[in-house]
Parts: sequence; C-alpha cells; structure tokens
Amino acid sequence: MMHDAVIIGAGHNGLVAAAYLARAGRSVLVVERRELAGGACVSEHPWPGWTVSTASYVCSLLHPDIISELDLKAYGYQAYRKDPSSFTVLGDGRSLVLGRDRQANRREIAAWSQADVDGYERCDAAIVEHAAELFNAMNDDEPRFERLSGAAQSMFLGSAATFVERYIETPVLQAAIASEGIIGTFAGPRDAGTGYVMAHHFAGRALGVQGAWGYVRGGMGSISAALAAVATKQGAQVRTGAAVSTLLVDGGRAAGVALEDGTEIRSRAVLSNADPRTTFARLVPSGTLDAEFLKKVSDWRDEGSSLKLNLALGELPRFAGRSLNGDGMRQPGSATIHITPDIDYLQRAFQDAAAGLPSREPFLECFLQTPSDPSLAPPGKHLLSIFAQYFPYNRSDGPWTSSKRETAADLIVETLGRYAPNVPAAVEERQILAPPDLEDRFNLPRGHIFHGELLPGQIFEKRFAVRTPLPGLYLCGSGTHPGGCVSGIPGWRGARACLQDLAHV
Ligand SMILES: Cc1cc2nc3c(=O)[nH]c(=O)nc-3n(C[C@H](O)[C@H](O)[C@H](O)COP(=O)(O)OP(=O)(O)OC[C@H]3O[C@@H](n4cnc5c(N)ncnc54)[C@H](O)[C@@H]3O)c2cc1C
Repeated sequence: MMHDAVIIGAGHNGLVAAAYLARAGRSVLVVERRELAGGACVSEHPWPGWTVSTASYVCSLLHPDIISELDLKAYGYQAYRKDPSSFTVLGDGRSLVLGRDRQANRREIAAWSQADVDGYERCDAAIVEHAAELFNAMNDDEPRFERLSGAAQSMFLGSAATFVERYIETPVLQAAIASEGIIGTFAGPRDAGTGYVMAHHFAGRALGVQGAWGYVRGGMGSISAALAAVATKQGAQVRTGAAVSTLLVDGGRAAGVALEDGTEIRSRAVLSNADPRTTFARLVPSGTLDAEFLKKVSDWRDEGSSLKLNLALGELPRFAGRSLNGDGMRQPGSATIHITPDIDYLQRAFQDAAAGLPSREPFLECFLQTPSDPSLAPPGKHLLSIFAQYFPYNRSDGPWTSSKRETAADLIVETLGRYAPNVPAAVEERQILAPPDLEDRFNLPRGHIFHGELLPGQIFEKRFAVRTPLPGLYLCGSGTHPGGCVSGIPGWRGARACLQDLAHV
C-alpha cells in the first residue's frame, strides 16, 4: 500500500505531524523504533507503583493552538501551573522563593536587596517582552532572525549573565534566572548566546501565561498519549517496535523507508522526527546529499552534557529553614528547586565540562510532582526528578562506564544532601540517564536533549529547514525551528510544508 506520508519516529513532534496530516485527510503511518511512542516526552514505570517522566518533566512550550485545534484536553491532556515556580537554596540555610504572587516576591527579594525588588520586576518584564516576540516567531514558515527587534536580537546573541546582571545585584537571584540560559546547553551563563536559551525557556504559553511552566497530570507521557490518540482517531497508524534502517529514494525523491527487519514501506512523502545527524548521516543513502549540506550536518553542535537522575524517595526532602509542606512554599513542593548559588558557580561547573570532565560542583534543577499528583508514586513516597549539568558525552578520561554513572549519581545526591540532609538516606531507587543513555534509549544524538544546541548559528534560519534538499523528505523534529522542548511546533510546521507540497504531487 502506498501511504501519503510515512513519519520516522513517534516523538511528540512526529505525533503532532501525524495528527495534522491525518486531519487533512492524508494516509499516514508513523514508525517508531521503541515499543513506546513519545520519544523524550514519555511516562514510564521503572519500578512497580511508580510513574516517571523519564526525560522531559515539565511543560510550557506546547503551542496553545495545537492544544485547542487537536482538542488534546478531550484526550486526557491536563497541565497545571507550578506555583511557586522557583525555590533556590543556599548552603547557609537561606533561600529564595518566587512565584506568581507579586507581593510575596517583593517581600522575598527585599530580604536580600531593596534595589532588586524593582530590578527583578524590570528584568522579568524585559525577558517576557523578548520571549513574547520569540513566541510570535516560533511558528513562522520561514523564520528570519533579522525580523526580530534590535533589543531581542541583542539579548539572544548575548549571554544570560550579562542580561540579568544589568538589572539585578543579588547573586542567588541572578543565578536563579540566568540558569534558564544553560538548560540542555554545553555553554556557561557567561557565554554568548545563552541569552537566547534563557528567552526560549520563557517563550511558552501552554499554561496561559507567557513563560509559566507546569506539570502534566500522569507525567509528560500524557501529552504523547493524547497526541497518539488524536492521530489514530483521525486515521493515522502508529507502529512501535519498527526501526527504520534506511530511506528509500526513487528518481531523486524520497519514496518511503525500509525497516531493520527488511520491510519496505512506500510513500509520497517522508517526514523525519529523528534528529538531523541520524536523518542525514545515517538514514539518507550516501551519495544522495551534496558535500556542502553534509558539512553542515557534520559541523552540527550536538554534544550533550545533561544528566537526568530520577530518585524514588521514601519521604519529602527537608531543607533548612523551609518546609515543602509549609507556608514558605505556599503549595507543597511545586517549585523547581535550584542548586545554583551564583553565576560563577554555574560558570565553574561549565569549565570542568569544557575540559572534558563532569562538574565537580554540578548545577541541579530538581522537581517534585508527587505532592501535587500523588498518583505517580506509592502512598507516602515521592519522586524527585533531577536535571543536572554538566556531564559531557565525550569524557577526557575515557568513555562512560557503569561505575562512572554511579559516581556521577553519588555526587548529585551528595550535593543535594548538603542542602536537604535527609535526601541520601531517603533514596529507595535511582534511575541514571547520562548522555550515552539518553542516546541509547531515545536516540538523542550524543545525548543532546534538543537534537542540537539552541545557540546562535543553530537557531531560526540557521537550524535545519523543514524542507530538506531531497524532494519529498521533511524534518519534523527538534532539529528544525524552533528547536527543542515539548512544543509540537516543529511537527506542525513539518506537516504544513508537506501538505502544501502534496497538493502538487
Ligand atoms: C532529560 C531531558 C529532560 C528534558 N526536559 C524537558 C522539559 O522538562 N520540558 C521540555 O519542554 N523539554 C524537555 N526536554 C526536551 C524535550 O524532551 C525534547 O526537545 C523533545 O521531547 C523532542 O521531541 P521530538 O519529537 O522533536 O524528538 P524525540 O522526542 O527525540 O523523538 C524522536 C523519535 O524518533 C525515534 N527514532 C529515531 N530514529 C529512528 C529510526 N531510525 N526509526 C524509527 N524511529 C526512530 C526516536 O526513538 C524518538 O521516539 C528534555 C529532554 C531530555 C532528554
């Protein structure tokens, strides 16, 4: 049977593409190498009674039009805002909590610096203004960096640290905000381009408020499950356990895919949700693409340095001076817990990794969804998701081994234990995902969580285009604008281009 479109990969973007293509009446088959659809946006059950958002854990960028046009809420998608949003702790027992309550924020900040009370609001307003501009450009069919305002361009090309330090003097507050500029990125907050990464993390509107983040009931896999349900309801087929070994090319056009078991599937168009390196260097037959394009692929910066550690805890972490169940947090445990005392701490952490070794003092972003969604853990237990940097894929002391993984996890637990001393003894299970594990499990190239850096030179028109040089082959994953995070936009843009072209085939 000839399909209109075959989609390589059932990441959330591949599923968005499938839903839009099927909705337009096209016959669509999605083939996914794993047994589970969702890519890096999944809920899994590593231990009996636990539901873990294995990779991505919080939601902001999922485009509101995708949520409403595909009616995702009718298929079980339900996100709720984290509030307070951020809780940054210091080793001396002091801490800073920020959230949507403006007066509470002003009181918190005044304890550190009177000047920062207004400085924080001006900083936040400036970030939100540029992030809103970014949001408006995220779904462009032909993104152009130069169309952004001069102020946004200068923020995006500069460093997160420079931007934040312009408004704020308190180190812990500077670091809490600037750390958004290094998420998933192999660069320090003082490095050029991390201003863009920061804006990217404030660009979402899934929770109805510019830049707000939230949890998804049932974990992030509920997004992918809803997308798969919509796509199949519209007539698309999703086949898991079906790895593509090569793209079929016929008469200078993409003509389908061959699976690892030898099955050939023919189609008028192929959309790849796989990353650019996998798509162009592995799946497209050699000799098909020209040398200049292949140079862009080989120069693509996609070395990962993020490690995800999922911990099953027997009890909630206890931080000096604040109770996760008490007044200070206003809602139990919903805030992101940052271990990031100041910007220089983050920059030092990066410098270790730039020399090829894990950070001696890592940056940690910790999330506790179980206080607000107890269905994810056995009664009384809590899941702590820790996103840690920097743990480079390529280590100067030789490849990752299981003992290096255990050492990395020990370091992270010990680091957190300095702030919440009960954590080490409360750990009942742990799941360690170093960059090579992210590569093996999710096919993320070199473990890069965004299919490649979101830094200048790899954003807007410098990211890979949806239409590839091979007619009939489209990219519909994070390697295309606007890049990584659970937004669905690359899938939507990919489907749109494919639909336009199919009308003429
Ligand atoms: C540890 C971690 C934490 C993160 N945290 C967040 C977060 O909290 N919030 C957020 O918004 N984003 C987060 N991200 C980023 C976000 O998860 C990703 O950017 C996003 O999920 C990528 O979606 P995608 O559909 O583009 O690609 P993927 O999810 O990578 O999907 C690609 C799919 O293609 C499949 N595939 C690849 N090759 C083949 C082949 N040959 N044959 C068949 N199938 C193939 C893969 O198995 C995969 O399912 C995180 C990522 C990681 C890894």
